[in-house]
Formats: sequence, C-alpha cells, structure tokens
Amino acid sequence: MADTRILDVRKRIALVAHDNKKKDLMEWAEYNKAALSRHELIATGTTGKLLEDVLDRPVKKMMSGPLGGDQQVGAMIASGEIDVLIFFWDPMEAQPHDPDVKALLRLAVVWNIPVASDRASSDFLMTSPLMHQQYIAEIPDYGSYIKRQL
Ligand code: PGA
Repeated sequence: MADTRILDVRKRIALVAHDNKKKDLMEWAEYNKAALSRHELIATGTTGKLLEDVLDRPVKKMMSGPLGGDQQVGAMIASGEIDVLIFFWDPMEAQPHDPDVKALLRLAVVWNIPVASDRASSDFLMTSPLMHQQYIAEIPDYGSYIKRQL
C-alpha cells in the first residue's frame, strides 16, 4: 500500500509571491481573510510581513525568497510540514533565484502537494470542500528509486 499523508482540517498553507505579484496576492488574501483564518500560514519573508499587515495576524515567516526562503519552504514540503502551496510567481520577469523557484515548484509535485499559482486557481483551491475536512494524500512511492542499484 502507498504511504499517505494526512492533511488535517486546519491546513498548513505556504504563501509566496514575487514582487510584481505581491499586490495581487495581498488583494486575494484580504478577500479570503475569513477562509484563511481557519488555517496556519507560512510565508517567505517579505510576503509574510505584508500578509501580517493585511490579515492582522501572525504568519510564520521564513527568510526572504531570494535569500533562501524558497528553499526553506521546499525543505518543509519535503519534511511533510506544508499541506498547500500558494505561489504567485511572475511569468513576465526572470528572478535572481530562478533555480530556487523551479526547485520549489518541483518539490510540490514530488510530494503531491496542491499548488495554485494565480488568483483563479487559488479561488478554486480555497473553495474546495477538501479545505474543510481531513484529506488523505498519497505519497508517491520512491522506494525503488532509493533502493536503485548503482
Ligand atoms: P519574498 O520572497 O516574500 O521574501 O519577497 C518571495 C520570492 O520567493 O521571491
């Protein structure tokens, strides 16, 4: 049987927004303040500070994304400490930390984490009935990869 991870009713939501997308994420977060209040929030440094102002509540802040925050969030995903990723990345501008951005998006898929990258997807995600109930997510089986013969 595949390994599973339980996503509790209270989800651990990681939020990250590139500079050109921060306004978008803050507007979205303000609109979804009540829904977000039912969950634990984790964010990269600057995004987290802005969210604390908009939502008037504490947010667990990692380092700023380009300084290692994206990698910290990625490590939390790999260790099973994040349930949902809302990542408003900028499709119109290269980032100094593009490899970290790619790594974070990759780890979300490696560990079967729900991801939203724009307002429409975030709306669909936040209004899913699964946000209010326990959900059992399958963890992909990497056993044969780990045990591969070299
Ligand atoms: P920031 O990082 O929230 O510290 O600006 C976001 C990012 O990964 O670019």
